[in-house]
Amino acid sequence: MPLSVAVSSVAVGEAGGSAQGRGTYLLARVLAGSGVAPDGVAADLLAPGGSPDRGDSSPSEDGAAGRAAPLAGDASLADGGAVAGGDELSPLRHVVRVPARAGRVAPWPTWVPAPLRDTLVDHGVRAPWTHQVHAAELAHAGQDVVVATGTASGKSLAYQLPVLTALAADPRATALYLSPTKALAADQLRALAELDLPDVRPAALDGDTPLDERDWARRHARWVFSNPDMLHRSVLPRHARWATFLRRLRYVVIDECHTYRGLFGSHVALLLRRLLRVCARYGATPTLVLASATVADPAAFASRLTGRPVVAVSEDGSPSAGRTLALWEPPLLPELVGENGAPVRRPAGTEAARMLADLVVEGARTLAFVRSRRGAEVAALSAQRLLADVDTELVERVAAYRGGYLPEERRALEAALAGGDLLGVATTNALELGVDIAGLDAVVVAGFPGTRASFWQQAGRAGRARDEALVVLVARDDPLDTYLVHHPEALLGAPVEGCVLNPGNPYVLGPQLACAAAELPLTEADLAGVFSGTDAEPVLDELVADGVLRRRPAGWFWPSTEDRPAGTVDIRGSGLGQVAVVEADTGRMLGTVDAGSAPATVHDGAVYLHRGESYLVQDLDLDAGVALVRAATPEWRTDARSTADVEVSAVLACRERGPVRVAFGEVTVTTQVVEYQRRAPDGTVLETVPLDLPRQTLHTRGVWYDLDEAALDAVGVDIAHVPGALHAAEHAAIGILPLFAICDRWDIGGMSTALHPYTGRPTVFVHDGHPGGAGFAERGHEVLPRWLAATRAAISGCECRTGCPSCVQSPKCGNGNAPLDKAGAVRVLDVVLNAFGGGVRLR
Ligand SMILES: [Zn+2]
Ligand SMILES: [Zn+2]
Repeated sequence: MPLSVAVSSVAVGEAGGSAQGRGTYLLARVLAGSGVAPDGVAADLLAPGGSPDRGDSSPSEDGAAGRAAPLAGDASLADGGAVAGGDELSPLRHVVRVPARAGRVAPWPTWVPAPLRDTLVDHGVRAPWTHQVHAAELAHAGQDVVVATGTASGKSLAYQLPVLTALAADPRATALYLSPTKALAADQLRALAELDLPDVRPAALDGDTPLDERDWARRHARWVFSNPDMLHRSVLPRHARWATFLRRLRYVVIDECHTYRGLFGSHVALLLRRLLRVCARYGATPTLVLASATVADPAAFASRLTGRPVVAVSEDGSPSAGRTLALWEPPLLPELVGENGAPVRRPAGTEAARMLADLVVEGARTLAFVRSRRGAEVAALSAQRLLADVDTELVERVAAYRGGYLPEERRALEAALAGGDLLGVATTNALELGVDIAGLDAVVVAGFPGTRASFWQQAGRAGRARDEALVVLVARDDPLDTYLVHHPEALLGAPVEGCVLNPGNPYVLGPQLACAAAELPLTEADLAGVFSGTDAEPVLDELVADGVLRRRPAGWFWPSTEDRPAGTVDIRGSGLGQVAVVEADTGRMLGTVDAGSAPATVHDGAVYLHRGESYLVQDLDLDAGVALVRAATPEWRTDARSTADVEVSAVLACRERGPVRVAFGEVTVTTQVVEYQRRAPDGTVLETVPLDLPRQTLHTRGVWYDLDEAALDAVGVDIAHVPGALHAAEHAAIGILPLFAICDRWDIGGMSTALHPYTGRPTVFVHDGHPGGAGFAERGHEVLPRWLAATRAAISGCECRTGCPSCVQSPKCGNGNAPLDKAGAVRVLDVVLNAFGGGVRLR
């Protein structure tokens, strides 16, 4: 699906009223502060009506937030790093004006009881937005629905209307609300309690709920606010005690459902099937109402998550403020050299701190989002230092904010920002949720926060009804950020990032089926019904062979009446177990790392970073699952080196076109960390230390392509350059996959080789990092031409000469980022894209 957004339709001054909105003015100041002459690039960029392609602003078009207008004209939209305004030194890659969007209201559904409607009106809902009514109507009619609209678009009302109507109409009806976090469920519960409706009797059910309150919830509550963990460990294993509640269950609300992705999502998908099966046993078939961030194809995702056909409502009727969005790529620093001589960019945090200071000087209330806690503190400090030279009075009006503050401290901060006592705050993502700050003049986002939903959540803090605000995305040194600042349509257009999960993963299915059988014996009808499409039978056979379940003519049984398996099944775990990181002197547990990545991250002698503090690992005991560390501030960093091997166990899909073959299947990845290097800050290797660590085997799923050597030779990649070209193409592809499948680049891995024993040809693998596969490689296979076209654009759009962290170098490379051949990677990808419809560019 190509992006449909028109990135050149509204010229400056046509959308927001004033020719030079506040956002545009602030951007000019930020640009001036970067040392770029404002009469050069900035003048071109910021002149009104700069677009030669001044088109129809399509006022009748729905969903106008997806429309974007470049201030810089078409030159800024060319691929390959053509810089806005034509100045190669400008860090400003694009300026896009997102016009204000008026809200569209719809009449209240006729079935909403008058007292409920009046209460909502009293609480500020004058009339519902169109998407709220659309979704509510579907749910009221018994159709499972997912609302996938922007952040702060009022998704709660979409499920409150049908649920509260049902509770009012039938005094026995019940409802269940599930959210991924306790905090979110508490927020929703509080909002509902404020309505103070009679006879709803809402109650929380989470790990912190005292026993007597749990009992009360079970006996009396009609709307229970809980989370998947409680459902898994408490409600379903003891469903008989919940029989009355479950028998009357009319609605299940599944909020923020895009967080149920990857391995956790696969667990939740099966957990929901368990819930529906138990409900059916009590004669209930609740309607499902899901809420999600905007993702690609929400209906397909929600259907896969729930196992039932779900209709999506994704046309957002809520209003949004006008914003000037600037995409910023910090300049390369000529005086610094990175790994293998790679150029280095000015860090995003440093750039953000400077912008924060410039904006505070302008009196603009600004939030700067920085990735780490320590980064936020450093950014606030350096902004203060810069301000001290300008006006000492401004120094006190900048602060850092990190997670872990008490509620009253949060409220104080909100009040100080709202009142203008504070002008600038540097913060971690802690401020993303649960803090009531909006209507700021500017937001600086240092590093793409991983998903568009998070990005717009952060950006949404800026913008007031009248005054246009500024949002700046500062790219980090990373292929995904590089791609985004060169391709604004990826942020503004229809979403391409999808949510993936794999309910058929045998490593998830096995434990989940055991839990299900312990709840109620599993029957053939269950396999054909609620668990259809998961290929449960062979997994059950294995459970029987292992003595976990017993097979009887009537079905599969859990053999014990006392033990319950749910307690031992960790739905949020990786399936690989965890290694605890413990401070040797104090015994304090700092955190955990995945057992799969422990040999590479907490081997003996590793420098381990935790919340901005550094530690040295003294001893890693994989059998005990403990890494002992002590606080230290070494003058070096460590890089683990490993060997990797990928074997193909089963091919699930394969297509061949010309010189290229693309496949998806089951693979076995064997890795072994063999040594580590101590490196000086400039990348110089100080010492190479051998390690004696076991080989690790991972059965998972992968996507791969292999190519004809002659075809590579024909485009100038001779045999000597094949390894470096493939390796570089692999790194960049891993870095870009999160654009198409919401994941962390650490959720996936890869391997490339000039001659693979299975394919017999040069081959690049990208595989899931979890046992059984979590759906990432599968999604990569689905969107391969678009994914690799974006990968190619990220590489060719990077201005470095021979490769850097913004394009082909990877922070998790087991080979020390060598060999890497940037130009060869582009050619390799061209061969694949020529064969597999690479003409489908992501724009
Ligand atoms: Zn580069
Ligand atoms: Zn590598």
